[in-house]
Amino acid sequence: MDRIYLDYAATTPLDRRAFAKMEPFFTQDFGNPSSIHTFGQQAEAAVDNARTRIAGMFHVSADGVIFTSGGSESDNLAVRGTALWQRRAHGKNKIITSPVEHHAVLATVEQLGDAYGFDVHFVKVDRSGKVDLTDLERLVDEDTAVVSIIYANNEIGTINPVSEIAEICHRRGIIFHSDAVQAAAHLGFDLENSPIDLISIGAHKFYGPKGVGALVSRKKVELFPQITGGKQENGLRAGTHNVPSIVGMAEALSLAREGMSVRSPELTRMRDRLIERVTAEIPGAMVTGDLKERLPNHASFVFEGVDGNRLLVQLDMAGFACSSGSACKTGDPQPSDVLLALGIEPKLALGSLRVTLGAGTTGEHIDSFARALPGLIEANRKRNS
Ligand SMILES: *Cc1c(COP(=O)(O)O)cnc(C)c1O
Repeated sequence: MDRIYLDYAATTPLDRRAFAKMEPFFTQDFGNPSSIHTFGQQAEAAVDNARTRIAGMFHVSADGVIFTSGGSESDNLAVRGTALWQRRAHGKNKIITSPVEHHAVLATVEQLGDAYGFDVHFVKVDRSGKVDLTDLERLVDEDTAVVSIIYANNEIGTINPVSEIAEICHRRGIIFHSDAVQAAAHLGFDLENSPIDLISIGAHKFYGPKGVGALVSRKKVELFPQITGGKQENGLRAGTHNVPSIVGMAEALSLAREGMSVRSPELTRMRDRLIERVTAEIPGAMVTGDLKERLPNHASFVFEGVDGNRLLVQLDMAGFACSSGSACKTGDPQPSDVLLALGIEPKLALGSLRVTLGAGTTGEHIDSFARALPGLIEANRKRNS
């Protein structure tokens, strides 16, 4: 059976061209960038080159790129690092975020509230998951240490008005971080035109290797390090650099951005055809997230009377790899917090499905998926009723 992968928001295959750039750094050019000798210098040059390339793509200076182990670590460093610094330097004690963040941000602010005593505030979002700017205006004040709002949502695809959010924060001198892990894969933005202070990226979402990412800053942002030790990354992130992965990330990001102008309209067309067919052919189907301000590769739904986790198993048996929003805890399915924050009923939220397209997706994949889905939904509903 030919398996069809429709879960590119979960991860993407490594681009072979990026892999080719990485290979020498595993075995041949294996030096530690912190070493004085030529082996070390060569590795350091490769890391510096990757840093300069990534900085150039986001229009920031090279020292604005901090390499991390991925999107999660970048989110942690941005939110915890800024909050702790702002409190120590300026006595600020308030954190503002949204209820539709990735867990890497949500669990971090939860810890900052519980263990460190920060006041955590959640800005309102509308039914499509977009931040309410008026509510944000109301919340920000001189006590605010950091605002963290996701750029493009991994679960529902909605793109936030980040430039407006940045504007609101800057007027008051507040640091604005945005989780851009999904956005970086599909939107060719930079930090000059979207004046966000800090963004998180993770390479495996844009055809780079897993386990590497970066925190990119527009200008110098003071942070508390969370991995303490050596002087790597200006003392902000100790640990020997993951040289092959850093090299692979820079190459993958460059390739992804080069290909965007061609790929984005193709993905958008396939995505829209999928959304149209699913909503037209399946009764009780509803799109989640915004229909226009949406990642080009992202379709997400809820279906009345459907067990979303069982649907994923049915789809897998039929050869389709997709995802849902709900986490299954041993037979006790929990609806996704993101869907609940949109005001979707818990029961309906349990019938969620996320279909994300990518480089390997063809029109035929979309058609065969759209042909298979109605029957699977019908069978699922029969067992559920
Ligand atoms: C995947 C993802 C992350 C986590 O990135 P990792 O590199 O897997 O740690 C964070 N935020 C968003 C929006 C994501 O999609």
